[in-house]
Amino acid sequence: MPGCGTPGPSSHSAPSSRGGVLPAARRANSERTLPDLLSALPPAALRLLIDREALAANWHALDRLSGDAETGAAVKADGYGLGAGIVVPALAKAGARSFFVAHWQEVPAVLDAAPGASVSVLHGVADAAEAAFARASGAVPVINSLHQANVWVESGGGPCHLMVDSGMNRLGLEPAHVGDPLIARLEIEVLMSHLASADEDSALNARQLYTFREVAAQFPDTRRSLANSAGIALGPDFRLDLTRPGLALYGGIPRPALAGTIRQVAYPEAAVLQVRALSAGESVGYNATFTAERAMRVATVACGYADGILRCWGREGALFHGDAALPIVGRVSMDMTIVDCTGHDVREGDFLTIPYDLPHAAELTGLSQYELLTVLGSRFSRQPKTR
Ligand SMILES: *Cc1c(COP(=O)(O)O)cnc(C)c1O
Repeated sequence: MPGCGTPGPSSHSAPSSRGGVLPAARRANSERTLPDLLSALPPAALRLLIDREALAANWHALDRLSGDAETGAAVKADGYGLGAGIVVPALAKAGARSFFVAHWQEVPAVLDAAPGASVSVLHGVADAAEAAFARASGAVPVINSLHQANVWVESGGGPCHLMVDSGMNRLGLEPAHVGDPLIARLEIEVLMSHLASADEDSALNARQLYTFREVAAQFPDTRRSLANSAGIALGPDFRLDLTRPGLALYGGIPRPALAGTIRQVAYPEAAVLQVRALSAGESVGYNATFTAERAMRVATVACGYADGILRCWGREGALFHGDAALPIVGRVSMDMTIVDCTGHDVREGDFLTIPYDLPHAAELTGLSQYELLTVLGSRFSRQPKTR
């Protein structure tokens, strides 16, 4: 950190001198603008490489499995944590036209990345301000309740989708309310519902499909959409007119049938900050939870729980130097993780790979594949993976 050890203007100086006489170097510093600083930044010690080819291949695979249905893309939560600015253009290029986000705040990034695309907002319109933004942006609200239907109609209405609850009891209109006169005033483009247990062989899947079909029969000319990633793999009955995969686009495998088809998309890497030698008996990290039984070498790596590499990685996890697994030792801390690199030529500045095969990583950490993607923090530099 340049200047860290150099005493600047005394922190004890009188208030009258604040903003006054600064040494020239410090004054120059303070006059640098944020864009200057950002453009001068060195490469990040944390990078998240996105394999856009795999992402496109996953969308095409899900599109094939969707049969005649249109295949959309759930890109909420910044493209499941991978960066909407990278994944949305790649998905649009692959052929996706309908994008789903949860919040209105997520709309600008998606429209910026795919101008003219159709963006639907799953949380719907809670009030007049959200309805006004829907109109201004052209994004389409998913109406989830009679209250939301009223907000949308009162604001002037227009095209919308309708989410009906078919048994998950999370978000969506009760089937008993679809006959309400307010609903008849909606201009519904797609009638939607969401599966609670599509990743399991549960009787709930067929029950939800049945309930959804009963409701949909009351809207004979409206397109229907039920399947998320796992739902697509449940079979042709679940595909209907529009599918909404998320997880599997990004390399998640929610049902075994998708293994072998879906490819890994996210490759996180972190730089080695320091390598040190330990003698037998020396301990490592917070609370000294690991003690070297023999002489060994360890490397301190620039990733920690603030970056989404949570402490559960420390149980049995490893980072990789090429093909070599370097077991994590001691506790993962906020910004750093320590690995055993005994016998490997690991140097400061080398990048280690965080193994992100999602089904494996989920098994290892106890986190869900969804959590593993969305927990990756803002210090990762998200960039296309080049071969
Ligand atoms: C997140 C979400 C999806 C995508 O689900 P995946 O399991 O990630 O494929 C589809 N529909 C709705 C309503 C969602 O909230």
